[in-house]
Amino acid sequence: MRKPPVLAIVVPCYNEEEVLPITCGLFKAELDDLLAKGKVAPGSHVLFVNDGSRDRTWEIIRELAASEPAYRGCSLSRNRGHQNALLGGLMEARGHCDATISIDCDGQDDIATMEQMVDAYLDGCDVVYGVRSSRETDTFFKRFTAQSFYRLLESMGVECVYNHADYRLLGAAALDGLSQFREVNLFLRGMVPLVGFRSTSVYYERHERMAGSSHYPLSKMLALAVNGITSLSVRPIRLITWTGLAVALASLVAIVWVLAAHALGGTVSGWASTTAAVFFMGGVQMLSLGVIGEYVGKIYLESKHRPRWIMSERTWDEDEK
Ligand code: UDP
Ligand code: MG
Repeated sequence: MRKPPVLAIVVPCYNEEEVLPITCGLFKAELDDLLAKGKVAPGSHVLFVNDGSRDRTWEIIRELAASEPAYRGCSLSRNRGHQNALLGGLMEARGHCDATISIDCDGQDDIATMEQMVDAYLDGCDVVYGVRSSRETDTFFKRFTAQSFYRLLESMGVECVYNHADYRLLGAAALDGLSQFREVNLFLRGMVPLVGFRSTSVYYERHERMAGSSHYPLSKMLALAVNGITSLSVRPIRLITWTGLAVALASLVAIVWVLAAHALGGTVSGWASTTAAVFFMGGVQMLSLGVIGEYVGKIYLESKHRPRWIMSERTWDEDEK
């Protein structure tokens, strides 16, 4: 059995002025409960990461931090998206705690499940995945797209835990491991399994958002899916090779057929098949170029080694933390 960890609950927030005043107290209440049960150590805190919000989110975080030492906040210099904000927060917490739990700030992920995560950590796990046991509160469309998303990832050889998003506990060793991943295009739920260490899953019911609205419209979900696949798998490029091979073999058959038709006093008609073949090949080639281009673009962006986020403010003094 490990000793109780100093826990940091890391919460990325983007334009969440409506929901933050409701959920902040819930995180604190959970932390107090864990402290009272002796499952986490004094010094445990909630770290809110402001992802360049345009509303009062950062003001609210600052007020919270001024009112209560268990609340801390840091702010990215601009909006960098959920994945960057989350990793930015985790890297801020790293070195100052024994474990982190990352959770969205809208109350959708069941806060009480943190206790099971901490129990698993105390039992020796370094990574604990929060897995949604049901998606009843999600619309049919969201459930369908989410399911297709995990299936697609799996078929592309990306290892990730089904129905797990970014609600998870990471121990200090896993955080150190994660800090060595230097990629700019982040897809944390695919990267964490690559970090390794002993892991387990805990299950929870997903709730409705407590206030405000989702920042993940279909377009952003699609972008996340494409990023997840192209960041972690080269299988789409292999698929192009196989498609090319299949088309080449099919065209060999077509050539034999064309030659035979010619030898047997072939006809001039054939406009439809020629046009169809040209369109088909054009389509396949454009699609293949697009897929390759996606990877080339990614190499280009990765090769710049730009910072993934810039932290502009913290509510604590670095020396006294
Ligand atoms: N978020 C963020 N930066 C963004 C978009 C979202 O930090 O650019 C945060 C947001 O405040 C929330 C979490 O990421 O805590 C998940 O976002 P949301 O609840 O909108 O997504 P959904 O649950 O609908 O997939
Ligand atoms: Mg949400």
